[in-house]
Amino acid sequence: MVDLQRQYRRIKPEVDTAIAAVLDNSAFINGQPVQDFARSLEQYLGIDHVIPCGNGTDALQIAMMALGLEPGDEVITPSFTFIATAEVIALLGLKPVFVDVDEQTYCLDIQQVEKAITSKTKAIVPVHLFGQSADMEPLMALARKHKLAVIEDNAQAIGGTYTFEDGSTKKTGTIGTIGCTSFFPSKNLGGYGDGGALFTDDEELAARIRMIANHGQSKRYYHDVVGCNSRLDTLQAAVLGIKLQHLDEYIAARRNAAAYYDKAFSSCDDIIIPYRAGNTLHVFHQYTIRVPADKRDSLRDYLATQGIPAMIYYPVPAHKQQMFAAFKAGKFTLPVTDFLAGEVLSLPMHTELDEAQLKYITDHVLQFMNA
Ligand SMILES: *Cc1c(COP(=O)(O)O)cnc(C)c1O
Repeated sequence: MVDLQRQYRRIKPEVDTAIAAVLDNSAFINGQPVQDFARSLEQYLGIDHVIPCGNGTDALQIAMMALGLEPGDEVITPSFTFIATAEVIALLGLKPVFVDVDEQTYCLDIQQVEKAITSKTKAIVPVHLFGQSADMEPLMALARKHKLAVIEDNAQAIGGTYTFEDGSTKKTGTIGTIGCTSFFPSKNLGGYGDGGALFTDDEELAARIRMIANHGQSKRYYHDVVGCNSRLDTLQAAVLGIKLQHLDEYIAARRNAAAYYDKAFSSCDDIIIPYRAGNTLHVFHQYTIRVPADKRDSLRDYLATQGIPAMIYYPVPAHKQQMFAAFKAGKFTLPVTDFLAGEVLSLPMHTELDEAQLKYITDHVLQFMNA
């Protein structure tokens, strides 16, 4: 699904030098590269504050803690996402309210969000799934109207953009109250271990986030609030600093691979290719097709026999997971989420796919589908 080795070999001299410098310095925690990377990412994203942390799940948790959400508060989130999004809501004693996604973008359906808002709703967590931005303009309008916080789960879409009606463009993760991301190795901007970050333009909120991520302390050994310990280590920051310089190339490579897939599959009526909303830049964390549910698993199995990995993201939506049984999550009616879970298949997508590989993959997909 990804080829991190080949990607590393292309930037090996830069990365090795950066890692050696950290080892020489031995400032493994909060070393200078952590600050340098945060400042570079602020510039890249066009946001005032990037606060690094330990991983993307922590970022979501810290965001909800910093917003002062309290047990019983309702948080609206899609069910068709990686489990972390909903898990942290439950972990903090908040109530996950699962809302269906749009059939084309696979991101939150804004009309369904509006219907799910109650007097207890405090926040909305849109997920820019597979690298496609959620429809942020109407979502932000809804949030303003109901005075709700918006936490963008940008773990799969760093570098993606969203263009508003007035023509202005923002990077995903910088539109809501707080943006969260993950630097897990296979993400579009991935380290060589765990990592994550939060983004915000709100200075007070940034200070709260820094405090919560650092044991709730504002001054050393004075702990004002209950926090946690969540840091990006210096080695990861050094690697990420190098990889950030290549992020736009990486996005271009992913988009080229996606264009190849699109063209190849255009001849097959049984394959629905990923939708691109006209006002977004899709960064293709995944290239996810839809095929008839009765063919999906056998297509995946056939590809496996040909040495082609393909994955189902996500086979069991969050609202059907045992972990949410106590929330009676199964009672949510999410027809789009349910049929997507039966039809989606993600094909290999990364920065190192060459034409021979793409041809091999698409030939075999088409061979199976047209048989
Ligand atoms: C990867 C991911 C996360 C969690 O990131 P970790 O760094 O693995 O904790 C959260 N949300 C989504 C949508 C993700 O894809």
